[in-house]
Amino acid sequence: MTTSSLDRFDVAIVGSGIVGLGAAYAAARRGLRVVVVDRTDRPVGATIRNFGHLCIGAQDGPARAYGEASRGIWLRLAAEAGFWARESGTLVVARAEDERTLLEEAARAEAEAEGGIRLLSPAEVTALAPVRAEVVHGGALVAGDLQVNPREAAGAIVRHLVALGVEFRFRTAVTEVGTGLVRTTRGDIEASDVVVAVNHDVDQLLPALAERAGVIRCALDMMRVSADLPSPLQAPLLTGWSMVRYRRFAGLGAATALRERLHAGRPELAALDLNQMYTQLPDGTLLLGDSHHKAVQPGPFQPEAAFDAFLAEARELFEVGGMRVLERWQGIYAAAAEEFLIEEVAPRVLALAATTGIGMTTGLGLAEIETARVLGWGGSGSVGAETSAFVGGAQTPAIVGGAGTTATVGGIAQEENA
Ligand SMILES: Cc1cc2nc3c(=O)[nH]c(=O)nc-3n(C[C@H](O)[C@H](O)[C@H](O)COP(=O)(O)OP(=O)(O)OC[C@H]3O[C@@H](n4cnc5c(N)ncnc54)[C@H](O)[C@@H]3O)c2cc1C
Repeated sequence: MTTSSLDRFDVAIVGSGIVGLGAAYAAARRGLRVVVVDRTDRPVGATIRNFGHLCIGAQDGPARAYGEASRGIWLRLAAEAGFWARESGTLVVARAEDERTLLEEAARAEAEAEGGIRLLSPAEVTALAPVRAEVVHGGALVAGDLQVNPREAAGAIVRHLVALGVEFRFRTAVTEVGTGLVRTTRGDIEASDVVVAVNHDVDQLLPALAERAGVIRCALDMMRVSADLPSPLQAPLLTGWSMVRYRRFAGLGAATALRERLHAGRPELAALDLNQMYTQLPDGTLLLGDSHHKAVQPGPFQPEAAFDAFLAEARELFEVGGMRVLERWQGIYAAAAEEFLIEEVAPRVLALAATTGIGMTTGLGLAEIETARVLGWGGSGSVGAETSAFVGGAQTPAIVGGAGTTATVGGIAQEENA
C-alpha cells in the first residue's frame, strides 16, 4: 500500500453513486471539506443503469419518507446542476379487473393518508401513453413521482459538486475504513467523518456488516430500444407486475390474489421475477425491463429469454410498429431483508445503502436524513433551515435504529422493487 500522501478532509465518502453523491451534497452545503473516492473512472454502477424512475408514491414507511425528502433534493439539484427531471407522476396501467380493483383499493387508502393516487379511465390512460386501447381496463396516476435520465444525472451532479468545492478521486479503490481514516490504493485519507456508500460491494469492504445484515446481490437485465410509437409516453409506466412488488400496492388485500393470478397464468414471466415497466428517455428511446436474480455473486451471463420476454410483452402492451434493440445491460443492487442498511460501523463511520431496488427514489433523502441524524450534520445553523425548506416539508421520519445499531429501517419483509 502507498502511504506517502496523507490528506485531511472533514468528510470522506466512499462511492460516487447516488447515495454517495447525496452525502457529498449534504456535506458540501454545510461548508464541510469533502472528498469522494470511487474505484471507477466515473459513476457507472446502479445509479446510471436504472429506469430513472423516482417512484415515491408507491412506497411506504421509511422508504416513503426518504423518497419525499429525495424529491425536493432531486428538483433542486436538477435546477442547480442543469439536468433533465420531469414532474411526470407515474402511470399505472390496469389490464384486468383485479388490477383495477387493486388500484381502487390503493386510491382509497391513499385518500385516507392524503396521498395522490388518482384513478384514470381507459381513455385517460391512452391519452397519457401509446398503449393498445383493447388491453386497458383502467389505470391510475401516482402524482408527485419524478423521472430523470440516469445516464446524465450522476455526471451532472458530479460536475456541480466539483463547482461547490467537492474533490473527487476516481480510479482509486478503498481498501479499509475506520474512525478518521480511509485507506486507498493511492494512499491514506484522513477525515473526521466517513460515509461508506458502496451499494452491494459492502460485502467486500465491510464483510461482517454485510453478513450480519444479510446483504446479497440482485442482478437485473435491462434493454433500450428504439420504438416506433404513435405518441410519447408521458410518465414512467408500471403494470400489474409492478403493483405486486411496490409496498404501497403489494401490502393491500387485493394484491395476493393478483400475484397468484399473474404467477399461475405466466409462470415463465414469474420465473424471470419480472417487473414489467417502462420509461422513455428524452431522446425518445424506451427502457424496457426488468428481470431479477438474487445471489451472493450472480453470474454475468444474461439469458436471452428475458430479453425475448421484454420485447414480446412490450408488443402486447404498446401500439408499436417496429422496435430495434439498441443496448442490453446488467445492473446490480444490494438486496437484504430490510429495505435500508444504516449503521455506524465505528465512531463517525456511517455505512448507508438502499437494500432493494429503490435507491434512485430514496438515496438522496436517505443520505440527507441519516447523515444529519447519525453524524449530526443537520445541526449546523443556517444549513438546517435551508434543508428543511427544500425537502418540501417532508417530515424527518422517526427512524428505528440509532447510531451503532444495525440496519433497521423498514422492518417489513419486502418484495424487490425496480
Ligand atoms: C437495472 C436497475 C434498475 C433500477 N431501477 C430503479 C428505478 O427506476 N428507481 C429506483 O429508485 N431505483 C432503481 N434501481 C435501484 C437504484 O439504481 C440503486 O438502488 C441505486 O442506484 C444505488 O445507488 P448507490 O449509490 O448505493 O450504488 P452505485 O450507484 O452502485 O454506486 C456505488 C459506487 O461505489 C463504488 N465502490 C464500491 N466499492 C468501492 C471501493 N472499495 N472503493 C471505491 N469505490 C467503491 C462503485 O464503483 C460505485 O461507483 C435500479 C437498479 C438497477 C440495477
